[in-house]
Amino acid sequence: MNAPHIAIAGAGTAGHHLAATLREQGFAGTVSLIGDEPDLPYHRPPLSKDYLAGTVNSDALSLRAPTFYAEHDIVTHLGVPVRQIDRAGHRLVLADDRVLAYDHLVLALGASPRRIDIPGRNLDGVVELRTRADAEWLRDNLRDGSRLVVVGGGFIGLEVAATARKRGADVTVLEALPALMNRALSVHTATHLAELHAAHGVRVMCSTTAAALEGKDGRVHTVTTSDGQRLPADIVVLGIGVVPNTAPAAAAGLEIDNGIVVDEQLATRDPSISAIGDCAAFPLPCGNRIRLESIQNAVDQARYLARRIVGHTEPYIAVPYFWSDQFGTKLQIVGYATRSDRTVVRTSGTKISNFRFYDGELVAVESINDPVTHLNVRKILTAGGTVTPKQANSTVDLRTLARTLVG
Ligand code: FAD
Repeated sequence: MNAPHIAIAGAGTAGHHLAATLREQGFAGTVSLIGDEPDLPYHRPPLSKDYLAGTVNSDALSLRAPTFYAEHDIVTHLGVPVRQIDRAGHRLVLADDRVLAYDHLVLALGASPRRIDIPGRNLDGVVELRTRADAEWLRDNLRDGSRLVVVGGGFIGLEVAATARKRGADVTVLEALPALMNRALSVHTATHLAELHAAHGVRVMCSTTAAALEGKDGRVHTVTTSDGQRLPADIVVLGIGVVPNTAPAAAAGLEIDNGIVVDEQLATRDPSISAIGDCAAFPLPCGNRIRLESIQNAVDQARYLARRIVGHTEPYIAVPYFWSDQFGTKLQIVGYATRSDRTVVRTSGTKISNFRFYDGELVAVESINDPVTHLNVRKILTAGGTVTPKQANSTVDLRTLARTLVG
C-alpha cells in the first residue's frame, strides 16, 4: 500500500499517543486525528485534582504543545464528531458532512458519563465531569462554603469530593452500595479511603442514592435521598461511572459487548478497523474480555497498535495499573481483580499494600502511599512472575525478587 491513510476517531489520550507513536515508528503515510471536543488532546486526570483545585493552569493540561501536530504532520479535525463509518467504501462521514477516506480506521472514542434519570436531572448546577469544559465550570462555581453533593463514590466522585473539601466546600458523597468502591477495591482499601474522607470532614452516606433533585428558579437547591433525607445543595456532581462511546461502531455493524469488541491484536472483525482505550473491550490471556478506563491502558494500547500498523505482529499483553490521588494520599493499583478470596496486608510504617489473591493466584495489589512496592510488583508481573501469599506477608524483599526475574 502506498502512503496509507490512518484515520483516528477520537482525539483524546489514546488517539494522541497513537498518532505520536506512528511518527516515532517512522510511519510515512497520512495521519488524521478527528475529535468532537474543540481542544487539542489534553490530560484528563487533573480535571478532578490539580486543575479543579486551581493549582495548575490550562498549559499543564496539554499533552503536547499546539505546534507538535503540524511539526509531526498530524492533520487535526477538531470540534467535529465522526457521524458515520462507511465500511464498504472505507470512508468516514463527519458531522459537518465532510468525507474522509481511510485505509485503516482506529476508534479511540473514549467513554461518557453514565446517565442517571432522576427528577431534576437537568437543573442548573447539576453536572458531570469528563471534559475540560466540565472541570472549568466546576472550578469556577465551587466556593468556600459551597454545599456540594456528589452522587457516586467511585474514583472520580471521591477525587472531586477531596478537591472540593480542600477548597472549603461542605461535601456529601452518596454511594448506592454498602461500601465505597465495593466493586473495584478490597474492603481494606475501601475502608481506608472511607476513613480518610471522614477524617477530612466529607460526609459519606453508603446504601443511599439520590431519589430526586429539587430547584428554585431553574437551579438545584435540594437533594432528596432514597431514605427520605433532604440535603441542601448548591452543586450536584453526578459520578456514577461511564459507558463506552460505541454509537458509530454499532451503527456500522461492528460487534459491541461492553465496548467495541477487539481481538488480541486490538482489531475488530473488520480488519481495516481497530479500537483502543476506554471504548475497546479486549481479551486477556486467560480468555476473559475486559474494558479498562485508565491512562496506562490508553497509552499502552496506542503504542502497541502503532507498532502493529508498521508491521509488528505480537499480541497485546500488558499488566494494567491505575492511580488516584485523594487528600495527598496516593493510591496505586496493579493488576485487575474481577474476584478475590484472600487479601494479605503488607505494611511498613504508613505504607500499606493490600495483596489480593484468587485461588492462591495474585490478581491485584492496591498500594497506599507505597510506590516502591507498587513498582516492584509491576516489574514482577510484567516479567511474567508472581508473588505468593507467603512472599506478600513476610519481609521478603520484593526488589530482589523483581531483579531476579528482570535480570
Ligand atoms: P478519552 O481521553 O476520553 O478520548 C476520547 C475522545 O474521543 C474524547 O475527546 C471524546 O469526546 C471523543 N469522541 C467521542 N465520540 C466521538 C466521535 N463520534 N467523533 C469524534 N470524537 C469522539 N485515569 C487514570 O489512569 N488515572 C487517573 O487519575 C484518572 N483520573 C481521571 C479523572 C477524570 C476527571 C476523568 C474524566 C478521567 C480520569 N482517568 C484517569 C481516566 C482516563 O482519563 C481515561 O481512561 C483516558 O482518558 C482514556 O483515554 P481514551 O483516549 O480512551 O478516551
